[in-house]
Amino acid sequence: MAGIARRWERQGRRIGVVPTMGALHDGHASLIHHAAAENDVTIVTIFVNPLQFGPTEDFRRYPRTLGRDLALARACGADVVFAPTARGLYPPGFQTHVELGALAERWDGEWRPTHFRGVATVVAILFQLTRPTTAYVGRKDYQQACIIRRLVRDLAFPLTVRVLPTVRERDGLAMSSRNASLGPAERARALVLSRALRAAAACIRGGERRAAAVASTMRTVIRRAPGVRVDYAVVVDAETLEPLTLLWGRVALLVAARVGRTRLIDNLLVDVS
Ligand code: AMP
Repeated sequence: MAGIARRWERQGRRIGVVPTMGALHDGHASLIHHAAAENDVTIVTIFVNPLQFGPTEDFRRYPRTLGRDLALARACGADVVFAPTARGLYPPGFQTHVELGALAERWDGEWRPTHFRGVATVVAILFQLTRPTTAYVGRKDYQQACIIRRLVRDLAFPLTVRVLPTVRERDGLAMSSRNASLGPAERARALVLSRALRAAAACIRGGERRAAAVASTMRTVIRRAPGVRVDYAVVVDAETLEPLTLLWGRVALLVAARVGRTRLIDNLLVDVS
């Protein structure tokens, strides 16, 4: 991979890179389409990264559909799919990690203590190997996108990060590889995440400026669904991800909840003038 990417780099080709964990869906497809349209060559990486899963999380259960993924990546315009093994990516004796700051401490960072360190470390390795001109990530994983942007600035990776909007199912559910593990009843209940975000946005449009009231609207909507447990439902500054008291400027609504054994996240950006 490094050989191919370095050759493209020497030839002055623009390289678009889309890092994923596979089980590709229309959300990934949107990233690949953009990458293919805006670059000379496009690399999709597929790697279920053990470093970013906690000991009790779904690493083993995570869906793996490489054959389908290759076909989808090709159809969307990818030139190369890089799908390394963990042994291939992490050399024997591997022990170096990217250490993150405040952006990674709250929200998913609290619920998944080693998650973002694993993400940042693998992304740094993947960027070294694939030499992106532009890397494409989804807003669906809002905190992750903020952390990757920060990583690129702070460690001076010579590339641009493009954050693209969340692709949703017709009924509003944010597309996610994890949706495949929802049973039919759970799939219906999972809709409360996007519903809660829309209710909160409506509440803000109606003039509500108290973050606590907006957050409480989200929690109320989510709690209506039986068997859905809220990890967090918060209103934060869209840049720093710090919690707000009064809403002003660009605001991010973030939710995470467990539907049965499946943990889902979603978010919405709101401009509060
Ligand atoms: P994953 O395979 O879940 O690690 O995601 C790989 C990339 O696709 C990340 O940048 C995600 O934010 C992005 N992504 C996942 N789901 C969506 C979606 N529904 N819409 C847009 N981007 C997404």
